[in-house]
Amino acid sequence: MINLKSRHLSSSCFCCGKTDLERATLGEKLLDSSDFHDQKLNPKKHRFDLTVCRDCGHVEIKSDNPCWLSTRKHEFITYNEPTDYFPLIENLITSLEIDLSDTSLHTFSYKDFKLVDYLQKEFNVSEVTKNDHASTSEFWLPIMNEQRELSQPPALKNFLTEIETSQKKNRIVLVTRFLDHANSIELINSVLNLCKQSAHLVFDINDYEKLFNSNTMEYMWNERRNFFVRGEIEQLVKNSGTRCQMFAYESLTTSPTIFGVISNKISDQVRVTPAEDPEFLKPSVIDRLSRLRAKWKSALPHDSKLGVIGASHKGISLAQFVLSKNVQYSLHDDKDALIGKTPPVHPPLGFHRVSDFDFSSYSHVAITTTKVIATKIIPKIRAAGFVGQILDFDCQNLN
Ligand SMILES: [Zn+2]
Repeated sequence: MINLKSRHLSSSCFCCGKTDLERATLGEKLLDSSDFHDQKLNPKKHRFDLTVCRDCGHVEIKSDNPCWLSTRKHEFITYNEPTDYFPLIENLITSLEIDLSDTSLHTFSYKDFKLVDYLQKEFNVSEVTKNDHASTSEFWLPIMNEQRELSQPPALKNFLTEIETSQKKNRIVLVTRFLDHANSIELINSVLNLCKQSAHLVFDINDYEKLFNSNTMEYMWNERRNFFVRGEIEQLVKNSGTRCQMFAYESLTTSPTIFGVISNKISDQVRVTPAEDPEFLKPSVIDRLSRLRAKWKSALPHDSKLGVIGASHKGISLAQFVLSKNVQYSLHDDKDALIGKTPPVHPPLGFHRVSDFDFSSYSHVAITTTKVIATKIIPKIRAAGFVGQILDFDCQNLN
């Protein structure tokens, strides 16, 4: 069995298949944004383009990385996902009117573990399987056999087998943050097809309609591939012969989110609410990216020294997609798991901790953490003598 090496960048829209795409190169040789590796490793680099379909408006990041799922690169990288709307998901499941005493609960990734615990308790479900099938991206490479035929990545095979072999009448399957990381229509369709076997999929995804119409670009990460909006999700679901019900959710602690249930038990009377702003159909993300690059360029004169605080996707994406090549910057993070690792970017001034770092010779600091963490960091670096400008991902003042 041979793993596929790489593939060409697709020239057609993931959603409608048309080839009239507006395109911006994000990078020719970039590592995945979670690829903090050991120094001796030499991980494979990939090309990434940001495209917008001139026909249907679909936005995607295209890559020559053949992984079907652009999940994290290493197990020690973990993220927290929002939990605020768990009760709303509970209501959605209740509205399906399925026999919960004859139901099993399944997870797709570790990101589903909190929700699965919540639902198990609320519904008193006896069969719960907690697996991290999303695991790391190496398990999502399609396999080529000796006859040069492609077959499903092993991680997908394991996931589907788990659901298909459940003895329960209903299977509730949690697929948090799955859709925008899926890099293959075969993957999306195999998961949606589970609905034919009485699976009910609970999903969430960033609310890209909202984000496209906001003033930020900080959601552009190379591990996000398809920036699906509600109409596009509805179309995918319809194409696979099932139904979905979804809602937009926003709170102070969460970036705008779409969550919902995909199930054959949803009544055909249910209609997806249309987008609030018709402009989202043609998001000007490529213009915005060039404007943001120009903004950072003029904010940083040639003798600037920039400290990028936060080595999560946002900080890495700032370095990968936005900053000019000659910017003198360092990268900073206090996460223990990242200590001693080589980051996916090569900061000319190195990769350091935030705490105890002396920023006094720096002209600028970019804070790419959450706002809550930023408000804790700012007084500390000011107290330690930093007098320069503090900016966020979008080059807005945080002072
Ligand atoms: Zn299209």
